Amino acid sequence: MRLVVVGAAGRMGRMLVRAAEEDPACRVVGAVEQPGSLALGEDAGLLAGVGRLSVPITDDPIAAFRSADGVIDFTAPAATRLFAEAAAQAGLVHVIGTTGLSDADLQALRSTAARARIVRSGNMSLGVNLLAGLVRKVARTLGEDWDVEILEMHHRMKVDAPSGTALLLGEAAAEGRGIELRERSVRSRDGHTGKRGAGDIGFATLRGGTVVGEHSVIFAGAGERIELAHRAEDRAIFARGAVKAALWAREKPPGFYSMADVLGLSE
Ligand code: NAP
Repeated sequence: MRLVVVGAAGRMGRMLVRAAEEDPACRVVGAVEQPGSLALGEDAGLLAGVGRLSVPITDDPIAAFRSADGVIDFTAPAATRLFAEAAAQAGLVHVIGTTGLSDADLQALRSTAARARIVRSGNMSLGVNLLAGLVRKVARTLGEDWDVEILEMHHRMKVDAPSGTALLLGEAAAEGRGIELRERSVRSRDGHTGKRGAGDIGFATLRGGTVVGEHSVIFAGAGERIELAHRAEDRAIFARGAVKAALWAREKPPGFYSMADVLGLSE
């Protein structure tokens, strides 16, 4: 499968070039960064540490998409919306790992997916998607007298909060309880907040150092507590998942898919 990596000079972009080149079913044929990037013209393979690929980083996605089958995109919300439209027009699979997407962004992507194959997930790892399944099950089993709190920690460079993974886990808990996350989520607490609302799903965010990603979902009951946790040790898990998603979606009809679909974990 011929892949273009957008945001190819980023932390995840370099990992994605490496993961795609390590998969015998894939080849990187294009690499994109935005105009003005210092990486323009550099070889994507050399930058990713996999040797020269003769794929120079360009700021012209339309040209890069012309000779490809799929695009992998871990960039930023505004860029992802533009790439979705260009990928749909070129008939490419679009794998989106970008987090911090707003409801309006998601709505736009869903409508593009009526004519394109899009796989989107706030976390592309097998472990976190399995964890989400467990959280859904536990939330379904326990009543509202068990408070759900989601704690996450990431490196100091992360720009959005709560993390896409924390939200994915919150969605799983909300689904298990049969409620809408957006109506019950508490994203921050400061000052005199009053007591906790029954059935709320709380989020707490830590930022610092080089932490790849740590998430705990805490079910706190009267006199006992259950904690389900995942610790990412290497960004390669997300990159390998994204490549797997691209290969999976190649055979699928247009649709807005999740990593749970790719891994066969959807209920
Ligand atoms: P990063 O190092 O900042 O990389 C993002 C790259 O995208 C940068 O090189 C950036 O360029 C580039 N970019 C931004 N706008 C662009 C545009 N219009 N055209 C081309 N390139 C553009 O960040 P990261 O740590 O790799 O994370 C990227 C995203 O992936 C974040 O949203 C993060 O939360 C998410 N993520 C998702 C998963 C998952 O499994 N779903 C896992 C890890 C990270 P500039 O530096 O010039 O802005």
